[in-house]
Amino acid sequence: ASSPAPNGKRVLLANPRGYCAGVDRAVVTVEKALEKYGAPVYVRKEIVHNKHVVDTLRERGVIFVDETSEVPEGALVVFSAHGVSPAVHEEAAQRNLQTIDATCPLVTKVHKEVNRFARDDYDILLIGHEGHEEVEGTAGEAPDRVQLVDTPDDVDKVTVRDPSKVVWLSQTTLSVDETMERVGQLKERFPELADPPSDDICYATSNRQFAVKAMAAECDLVLVVGSENSSNSKRLVEVALQAGAKDAHLIDYASEVDEEWLRDVETVGVTSGASVPDVLVFELLDYLAERGWEDVQEVTTANEKITFALPRELRDEKIRSG
Ligand code: SF4
Repeated sequence: ASSPAPNGKRVLLANPRGYCAGVDRAVVTVEKALEKYGAPVYVRKEIVHNKHVVDTLRERGVIFVDETSEVPEGALVVFSAHGVSPAVHEEAAQRNLQTIDATCPLVTKVHKEVNRFARDDYDILLIGHEGHEEVEGTAGEAPDRVQLVDTPDDVDKVTVRDPSKVVWLSQTTLSVDETMERVGQLKERFPELADPPSDDICYATSNRQFAVKAMAAECDLVLVVGSENSSNSKRLVEVALQAGAKDAHLIDYASEVDEEWLRDVETVGVTSGASVPDVLVFELLDYLAERGWEDVQEVTTANEKITFALPRELRDEKIRSG
């Protein structure tokens, strides 16, 4: 770490931050599909929840649709990192669509857990955010067996057939602490509630929360680069505030920083969600440097080495690193 700037202004930069292996794979999948098959490439839903990534791909010939029914018969469609239900796969097959599935392998893992517990006749309590695409896809694996638990009220509402055959699973991008709180509430109602075989909240989500927690208490302001519809990015703002940051905001671009937020601020914490390319963080650092925050100290709490192979259809291509 460098010595503090004479004006007391410094930036703490979280590491890990930004792209996770699942997002990198999904974005490269669409880029390779464009190269291999040419535009237009259809993508169901936003490939990842980041405005900059989606706008850039749109400029290169990607057509984003909400439903497979909007894709012309026989065309190529990529499924987003958040995963899709079996019903969506069936619909695509009926329309003779060529599909490439960019679902993150860590989301697929939760889909498999749903299938396994449904087969064993468990009731599944899925902790997650109502309306989020990932939750829709995961619950869609066994709609009769899965109940969504979002708020504390939902804990009171769920009903199970046999309290000795209940398991909780979760969305991959939740707040680790809030999820454990919800599990505690569920266990009060269902003492025999079974835990997932392994963590459903993914390594990238928990690492980014851990890093922001490590620096939050020292920060007068934390800026999280990420989009409003990005679950893991929004959680970073909440975690920063809970861990002692005086103020925290979510922004897509440096240009969205309100100068008022910087008034009387010395230490600014910077991090970014798992769907955010680092170029956006560097733009924010430039913006801050122009205003006197030139001293940047990285706060490293983990080194991530994980990468995922591309979907089979594109596997002859090498995945880009970084
Ligand atoms: Fe996969 Fe986690 Fe990244 Fe989501 S945030 S794409 S689950 S690695």
